[in-house]
Amino acid sequence: MRSINRGPWPIDGNGSKISISDYRHARVPLNERIGEYCSYCERTGDLHVEHVVPKSVNQHLETEWSNLLLGCINCNSRKSNRNQSREGYLWPDCDMTFSAFEYRSDGRVNVDGNLSQDESCKAKALFDLVGLGEMGTSTDRRPLKRRQAWDQAVITRNLIDSENSRMLAVKLAVKTGFFSVWMAVFQDDNDMRQRLIEAFPGTRME
Ligand SMILES: [Zn+2]
Repeated sequence: MRSINRGPWPIDGNGSKISISDYRHARVPLNERIGEYCSYCERTGDLHVEHVVPKSVNQHLETEWSNLLLGCINCNSRKSNRNQSREGYLWPDCDMTFSAFEYRSDGRVNVDGNLSQDESCKAKALFDLVGLGEMGTSTDRRPLKRRQAWDQAVITRNLIDSENSRMLAVKLAVKTGFFSVWMAVFQDDNDMRQRLIEAFPGTRME
């Protein structure tokens, strides 16, 4: 799961914080800062502004920039209002979620086996909260899309033979989404990994 940095509260042309009287107003600045990807499963499309701490749990955080991410319909509805706070979970906007999960060629995701016990518990809590281990259904196409992204990344990797093909591969990755899948497929290609990190907006590696 990509670790992200949404940056400080966006400001307008006068140097004032933009108004987020309705949390949906955060959609455009979030797209610009962290890209049009689900903050949890990393897919593209069908995204909504997502409250890390549910708005039904803490109304003060409903329009608080630092509580807002982007979530797809599946991660959003699975997460619902089940977490009462940030406590006990890893979060992509403040923890190194990127190294907490292992992405496999069959579209499955596991909690990484090398985490400390505490981190492992928190990673598993997030994994369960958004349903990263789901097998997929006709309405939950996350595993299918992840597998398709893997296949696409492998085909792309096998075609790389020039600077131009590297640039095209990065463009395709940005369009396809699933940053962590591309990073896993290109795990032995540091140049491509660096390009991917720079191309996906708001990616944080520490
Ligand atoms: Zn999602």
